Amino acid sequence: MNIPSIERRRFLTGAAAAAASLAVSPLTSAEAASSSNRTGEPTSGVADLVFRPLELGSVTPTGWLRRQLRIQADGLTGHLDEFWPDVAQSQWFGGSADGWERAPYWLDGVIPLAWVLHDTALQEKCKGYIKKIIAGQRPDGWYAPYPLDASSRRYDLWAILLVNKVLVQYHEATGEAAVLEAVTKNLKAMLQSLERTALFGWGKFRWFEGLISIYYAYERTGEDWLLDLAEKLGAQGFDYMNFYAGNDVTIPTPRRGLWRWDKHVVNTGMALKAYALLSRLTRREDERAFGTKMLEILDRYHGQVTGMFTGDECLSGTNPLQGTELCAVVEALHSLEHLIAVTGEPAFGDRLERIAFNALPATFAPDMWSHQYDQQVNQVQCTINPDHMWSTNGPESNIYGLEPNYGCCTSNMHQGWPKFAGHLWMRAGDGIAAVAYAPSSARFETKGVPVHVTADTDYPFRDTLKLTVTVDRPVRFPLLLRVPAWAQGATIIIDGQSQKDLKPGTFHRIERRWKGAVSAELRLPMKAKMSQRYNGAVALERGPLVYSLKIGESWKRVNVDKPHRELPHGDFEVRPTTPWNYGLLLDEKNLERSVRFEELPVGERPFSPEGAGAAAKVKGRRLPGWKMAHGWAAEVPPGTQDSREPLEELTLIPYGCTNIRVTEFPLIRR
Ligand SMILES: [Zn+2]
Repeated sequence: MNIPSIERRRFLTGAAAAAASLAVSPLTSAEAASSSNRTGEPTSGVADLVFRPLELGSVTPTGWLRRQLRIQADGLTGHLDEFWPDVAQSQWFGGSADGWERAPYWLDGVIPLAWVLHDTALQEKCKGYIKKIIAGQRPDGWYAPYPLDASSRRYDLWAILLVNKVLVQYHEATGEAAVLEAVTKNLKAMLQSLERTALFGWGKFRWFEGLISIYYAYERTGEDWLLDLAEKLGAQGFDYMNFYAGNDVTIPTPRRGLWRWDKHVVNTGMALKAYALLSRLTRREDERAFGTKMLEILDRYHGQVTGMFTGDECLSGTNPLQGTELCAVVEALHSLEHLIAVTGEPAFGDRLERIAFNALPATFAPDMWSHQYDQQVNQVQCTINPDHMWSTNGPESNIYGLEPNYGCCTSNMHQGWPKFAGHLWMRAGDGIAAVAYAPSSARFETKGVPVHVTADTDYPFRDTLKLTVTVDRPVRFPLLLRVPAWAQGATIIIDGQSQKDLKPGTFHRIERRWKGAVSAELRLPMKAKMSQRYNGAVALERGPLVYSLKIGESWKRVNVDKPHRELPHGDFEVRPTTPWNYGLLLDEKNLERSVRFEELPVGERPFSPEGAGAAAKVKGRRLPGWKMAHGWAAEVPPGTQDSREPLEELTLIPYGCTNIRVTEFPLIRR
């Protein structure tokens, strides 16, 4: 795309740009005008954010979310650098193994994990690795893995875009000046290099990732050349807006089809945020709105009930047997965090929760030592399967393992949970917004007064949250609470007064003078919902959770002779030990009558079949004709089905708690 560079020098001020966003933002222009960057200087070269993420470490997970992050730190994330050569002996750290994306990917997740958990041992580990990266930077600004002869031998800049994003995240957490200096020096080298050699390869398709570190540096240094670099990335990068204006993107990649950059599922997940980020520079409304448009197209042609889209590993259509790569899941989550910050649109918060509570946990073993490359929404068996029907991925893509199919997810999976936790609360002008819900607390300061907010809850396994705002001395500011689009009849009780029927799909605003500690009870009623899916099948949802058939599992170790597969980081196949081929008896008009929801204690491992904090009881009959094919479940039989098999009561649990599952079922004729 072409950025109208003449426009850039006479941009709106940050305040005016934020005020222009009022159509979708609940902020008043006065609040928007008072928002500024963290250094306190108003920014004029890039539009201000509607919601500004809090500094890393300001949001602290509690309750089940803390347990989940602890499982992650005690699992692969906290230990990958101890045995996996591509991180342990990375060229980024002075070794001779991978000098590309793998070590930066791992740091991109382990850094926020260490800081949201306030885990000092893990933080020390991160500090040591960052020191090595900085020490390896050459006087010309390039980091150690960048080849000295890169001007004659072309070097794909993707890993550099990535590492700068990692370094600014670390700088945010620690304030170490040398780190920001290193990034700025490298960005300067990048600006010169792009004049010589234009972006190509991964860098060309992931150009917008560079904007994150560029804006970060710009907001702290005010150096104008950084915006020239941002503009150059936009001009040289792949034009997703143009691609999504055509029909090609709507066509599923055929089995053993052609691998393509523009339909690559991870690039797609990352690109969701591309134009929202760019719109901070260009102030173009079509760019700011493009994330919504892109999601509409993806939902329609490749969407899954989890909020994700398929890609195994290029966009693969709406069939629940196609795979979704783990990298795409964590990248889509991070894109949504940026989208909500730039636009303030609550729908991105709804989607953020949907993916975080369903697609994200499902694709890990409950101990987070092993993971899949591809997950399926209807996934009844995960085996090494040469007869698979992926588009371009290999036979090991949906086993749970150390590096099934390819090691990108092994290094990139770590950012999902910690960044989600770190973005639950964001600054909204003088106040604070709850953009997504999970047990957590956050600290920030407004008008010089320290504020502490907490959400005590087992949400999404329950529909009620206890919110507490504590201030050191009385201060006025707004508290913005996201009311999900699905939450009809939401209520809040504060100071004994009840406010009813909060408007779904908005931010509910409570502006007041806060004093001492004030508690409120927010209730987001969750109603059963049946959605129509591929081949006329149905899926059951309630609030942000999707429900899937609980299937008995048999785990079997495989690949024991491959390197680094000693437990606990081994490879596993999973097979069903109970029947899965059911049709459901649901009355769409009286859905609450044909489904009974139960609350269960949220387990030590919240996302495991045993730890599921909720279940749904439904009636169904087996469909003997629905069998295995190609090593996994056959396609859902189309249309309403007849069955003479006995009527059974079935247990469905949250999708994220399952390892194998059926999620899209045919309906049974009454
Ligand atoms: Zn991957």
